[in-house]
Amino acid sequence: MSKQTLEVGATIIISKPELNNLLKNLSDLDYELAGPQVKDHTVVLGPIESLAELPKGYTSQEEPGKYTLISTGKENYFDVTSGPQTWKKYFFPPRTQLMIFQQDPDKSPTWSMVSPVEELRRYALIGVRPCDLAGIQIQDKIFLADNNCDPIYRDRREGAFILAVNCTEPCGTCFCTSMGTGPKAEEGFDLALTEGKDHFLIEIGSEVGINILLDLDWKAADVKHQKAAEAALQAAREKINLNLPQPDNLETELLSNLEHPQWDDVAGRCLSCGSCTQVCPTCFCWDSTDKTLLPGDKIIRYRSWDSCFNPDYSYVSHGNTRPNTRSRYRQWLTHKFASWYEQYGSSGCVGCGRCITWCPGEINHLEEIAAIREGEPS
Ligand code: SF4
Ligand code: SF4
Repeated sequence: MSKQTLEVGATIIISKPELNNLLKNLSDLDYELAGPQVKDHTVVLGPIESLAELPKGYTSQEEPGKYTLISTGKENYFDVTSGPQTWKKYFFPPRTQLMIFQQDPDKSPTWSMVSPVEELRRYALIGVRPCDLAGIQIQDKIFLADNNCDPIYRDRREGAFILAVNCTEPCGTCFCTSMGTGPKAEEGFDLALTEGKDHFLIEIGSEVGINILLDLDWKAADVKHQKAAEAALQAAREKINLNLPQPDNLETELLSNLEHPQWDDVAGRCLSCGSCTQVCPTCFCWDSTDKTLLPGDKIIRYRSWDSCFNPDYSYVSHGNTRPNTRSRYRQWLTHKFASWYEQYGSSGCVGCGRCITWCPGEINHLEEIAAIREGEPS
């Protein structure tokens, strides 16, 4: 393949150090690079400049309520699956200004209202897992809907570059295979890597992706390397033990069992802490609050992530519509895995497993679903 034949859908190979040049090309085009890095005994997402900041030689062991980062000594940069943070913080920030109210000193008590000016950034997300890519696509549907487009999300999402990484080392709480979202990224990326021992196989997903590759030292992927990558992905599929059987009636099975005794059982273990919603790549609920600055002539309205586990979230004029943990857990689970289909045409879950790993109550939501489906119906 000559350099002129770089095209969308083609697969090429670069050496591992050459990825540094790819990252530099993105920086030179004024992208702000964000990627995974080891911090506080886990993997977080933050600004990066080069390969040196990626979690080389790490993997993670995950089970309900437990996360352990393990050093492998391998020369691989992308063996560790996602930590507690998700890419949604770049497009849907945990806290952002919505509006500023300012009292006019000359015409008091007149107030003016201005939109906050945010410096626009163009993000390049480095190392997006296929499940998280599916999570971004779900949030796109929510925040970029024709009739209800969110300008904060749109301005951050437009022009973002996505370098996806196919998963060859899934963790113990992954179930992307059940949700049809992994371990291989199928669409929605600019470039998608599969990591080999001394090289990266790169699938080109967009014209922008081609531009980033033009001056790199690359060669066409040969059959041997492509087969090795496919074998690694197949091995990953076989390593995934968690399974959410997806019959076509999961929605009905959950929604027709709203009085199942399992809801009481799980409510005895759930702390209503909301951790599962904060770590979820698809959860999108938010609240707005006004903060008055001293001496009282300026008010900033903030938008912050909220959670259906927060008792105040369901508090309305006549009282709380979900007054206890049972009702809040049931709302979360049935929305994610059932009513989301009617609302957005897909499951609200992409099988990343974070809500299981980061649940202090060690709740495996797939076991709760199985009990509700298989146990005594209401
Ligand atoms: S299910 Fe787990 S993470 Fe979610 S609110 Fe309950 S205790 Fe917290
Ligand atoms: S519900 Fe849980 S497994 Fe599904 S996408 Fe959200 S955090 Fe991941």
